[in-house]
Amino acid sequence: MAQAKSTYQFEDLLEKHQLKKTGARLRVLSMMYAKNTATSQPDLESVLNDIDRVTLYRILNVFEEKGIIHKVFDLNGTANYAVCSSGCQEHHHHDEHLHFNCTNCKGVFCLNEIKFPTINLPAGFHADGFTVYASGLCAKCSKMQ
Ligand SMILES: [Zn+2]
Ligand SMILES: [Zn+2]
Ligand SMILES: [Zn+2]
Repeated sequence: MAQAKSTYQFEDLLEKHQLKKTGARLRVLSMMYAKNTATSQPDLESVLNDIDRVTLYRILNVFEEKGIIHKVFDLNGTANYAVCSSGCQEHHHHDEHLHFNCTNCKGVFCLNEIKFPTINLPAGFHADGFTVYASGLCAKCSKMQ
């Protein structure tokens, strides 16, 4: 899970990835880092409603390309975005951790501490990455049952 970061640290992050420090980019970052679940574009749109959709779409794309965020899918198959761990680089993501979909709150969680076992593919198959999803109740929802 991501830790709280200040605007100053977000500026550093953009600088590190050779991205211009725009207000919109900083706000998208701070909103994504503030949550412990992945965020969908409609979620971001409803909060950052003064940033137009095209701008937001481009921000998400460039962040994904730079290894800052990765795509995860919720139970409806909608793309959500989650903050990457520090192992990700430009065009090279290392987000091989378990993604947990909560059937109650619909939250999508990155369980970074759960790493995948080595998966040996049949000859001739070359995977760029693996995604494993689990579904059920998250820690918060299971307590309320
Ligand atoms: Zn990543
Ligand atoms: Zn939940
Ligand atoms: Zn993840």
